[in-house]
Amino acid sequence: MQTSRTLFERASRCIPGGVNSPVRACLGVSAEPVFISKGYGSRITDVDGKEYIDFVMSWGPLLLGHCHPEVLNAALEALENGSSFGAPCEGEVLLAEKLCNALPSVDMVRMVNSGTEATMSALRLARGYTGRAKVLKFEGCYHGHADAFLASAGSGVATLSIPGTPGVPPATVQDTLLAPYNDLEAVRCLFEKCPDEIAAIIVEPMAGNMGLVPPAEGFLQGLRDLCDAYGALLIFDEVITGFRLSYSGAQGRFGVTPDLTTLGKIIGGGFPVGAYGGKREIMERIAPCGDVYQAGTLSGNPVAMAAGLATLEALELANYDGLEARTRAFAGEIASILREKGAPVTLNTLASMYTLFFTEGPVTDFASAKTANGDMYASFYRQMRDAGVYLAPSGFECTMVSFAHTERDFDQALEAVRNVHL
Ligand SMILES: *Cc1c(COP(=O)(O)O)cnc(C)c1O
Repeated sequence: MQTSRTLFERASRCIPGGVNSPVRACLGVSAEPVFISKGYGSRITDVDGKEYIDFVMSWGPLLLGHCHPEVLNAALEALENGSSFGAPCEGEVLLAEKLCNALPSVDMVRMVNSGTEATMSALRLARGYTGRAKVLKFEGCYHGHADAFLASAGSGVATLSIPGTPGVPPATVQDTLLAPYNDLEAVRCLFEKCPDEIAAIIVEPMAGNMGLVPPAEGFLQGLRDLCDAYGALLIFDEVITGFRLSYSGAQGRFGVTPDLTTLGKIIGGGFPVGAYGGKREIMERIAPCGDVYQAGTLSGNPVAMAAGLATLEALELANYDGLEARTRAFAGEIASILREKGAPVTLNTLASMYTLFFTEGPVTDFASAKTANGDMYASFYRQMRDAGVYLAPSGFECTMVSFAHTERDFDQALEAVRNVHL
């Protein structure tokens, strides 16, 4: 009996679906999850002793790979001095300074414990600051699981075809306006319909939760201009893109300045961390400076701060361009092998991420992302996993390449792709 299977059976009795986050259940690819026992560099090992090249990397945080020595040492050193105080510590100051220095739009930052917390807090702040209620989000974008964002959300909501979700009262999402990604005209129409009601636009400056969809030329700047014209705030949800698209995130890469930025994933170095930050005038509305309440028992946790700080210190010196070029070449090769096999393939890639959509494409928004053949992806996923290549168990995700991935990893993955039957 396989240990993963046994654990999954036990998990299914005491954890809903056997998992603590829905996509992990592998329902979208008609497989059972494997339970992971350890990770090192670019590789993970499951409880049955099978090794995989990891292209999920904890869904993005591990841009340096598993157990990066400096991150590991920093976390261990912090842990030896106590795991949590619920009081200020030096690490949170150092990390906050690092974030403010890296992101020109961020004068002040508040640490939280997840991306979900970051986005829901940023929305509360935007509403408090503007005195308006409505938020505009894009179809297929995912901003964590807070009620207001669960209208036409990407990630697991898309994978499992959940149309919104029960438990979210209509009143909660009635203030959530939706537009197709990359569609400035739709955004303009919504502003014209409710010119004084929209507190903020929240956007993934590169969509990563409907698969990878880059912003069209001028899209982000167009959002900036519309926000300025109508007195709304622009929130960049950089939970994936922060320190991934460049050391200064999507905002640095695309040269568009948001009012507020939400962060997570990479800035925690593999620990549960999120953050939101922005202009001083707006951030000073947060308690205890201001009247918008937000708090957290474990926020600014010393171990997480140490891991995050060590991660950013390593990334400050990292060769982002080199990794991007290697990722583009690798993904391009996969796409051409699959096309030779007759599969319809659209490759979207940016920085150290890519998504292969099994469709003729192009994929520029949620509607076109959904034309991808899910059964074909599921079959591809299962064959790759059998061959020791661990991909996201959903076609609506980004493949994550890290600085730990080697040419040998790429060669082995390409060999697995050559042996796939679709
Ligand atoms: C992952 C993600 C979130 C949610 O972060 P959690 O830490 O899972 O709560 C929010 N926004 C984006 C863009 C994400 O990719």
